[in-house]
Amino acid sequence: VSGLDLAIDGPPAFLSSLEAARRGRLYPSVILHGGSFEKRRDAALLLARAVLCEAEIASRPCGACRHCRRIAWPDSDSQRFHPDATWLLRDLKTSTSVEATRALMQAAQMAPFEARGQVFVIANAETLTPEAANAMLKVLEEPPVRAPRNFLLLAPSRLDLLPTLRSRSLSIFLGAAEPLDRAEIEDRAARLARSLVDFRRDGSPLHLILAAGDLADDAGFQDARAAEPWARAAATVLRVGERFEGEDRRALLDLSQELLAAAEWRLRGITAERIVEGLVSRHLAR
Ligand SMILES: [Zn+2]
Repeated sequence: VSGLDLAIDGPPAFLSSLEAARRGRLYPSVILHGGSFEKRRDAALLLARAVLCEAEIASRPCGACRHCRRIAWPDSDSQRFHPDATWLLRDLKTSTSVEATRALMQAAQMAPFEARGQVFVIANAETLTPEAANAMLKVLEEPPVRAPRNFLLLAPSRLDLLPTLRSRSLSIFLGAAEPLDRAEIEDRAARLARSLVDFRRDGSPLHLILAAGDLADDAGFQDARAAEPWARAAATVLRVGERFEGEDRRALLDLSQELLAAAEWRLRGITAERIVEGLVSRHLAR
C-alpha cells in the first residue's frame, strides 16, 4: 500500500503540538495562524491525520492507514472523505455562514463514526461571525461526552479572532506571510484608482467592486501586522490621482487617505475584505 507523501516540518510550537496530537493530547482548540493559506492547510492536514491515524504512536501520521488516506482537503479530491474529519470552508465571499457553523457544532455533539476522535477544521476562521464564534465557544466550554474532539481554526492572524475564542485556544504561529509582491500590489491599487474614476463616469459600481475584491485578495493584505501593503497602495492611488483634476482628483486623494488609515483597522482584527468593502460602499454612497 503506497502512502501519502507527508512532509513533516514546521516551527517548534507546531512540532510539539503534532507530538501531542500523536498521543491524543492535542489542545481542544488550536489556532493555526501566519504563513500562507497553503501552509495553514498543510499543517491542519498533518494534525488531523495525527489525531485520527491508527498506526503506532511514533509513526503518526503514517499516511497509509485507512484514516490517513481518506483525510483530504475537501476541494482537492472528492473521492477522499473521512466522516470524522469535518471541514468548514468559507461559502460566501466574506463570511463563513452561521448555518454551516451551527451544523458543524451539532456534529461535534455526536460520537465519532469510526475513528477514536473527531477533528473539525475551520478553514477561514477570520470570517466567522460573532454569532458563529459564540456558538463555538459554548461547545468548547462543554467537555466532550464520548470521545476527544479537536477544533483547528485557520486564520491569517490570531488577531482576526474574537478575544474570547483566542483565550480558549492554543495559538501556533506558522511564520511570516509570504513576502508581498510590491509590483502586484501597485498594479492592483492602480486598477482600483482607475475603477473609481470609471465609476464616477458611468455610475456602474461593478468596476469598483471587482477592483476592490482584487485588492483584498492579495496575500500581502492578509497579514495583520503588515502596514506596508496599505501604505504602498495608498501611495499608488495618490500618484494616479495627481494626474487628474477637480472632483476625480479629490475622490482619489480621499481613497488614498482611506487606504493609509486601513492598516490601523487591520491591526484591530478587521479583515482586509471587510475594510475594502467599507471603503467601496463609502464611495458608492457619495
Ligand atoms: Zn495513518
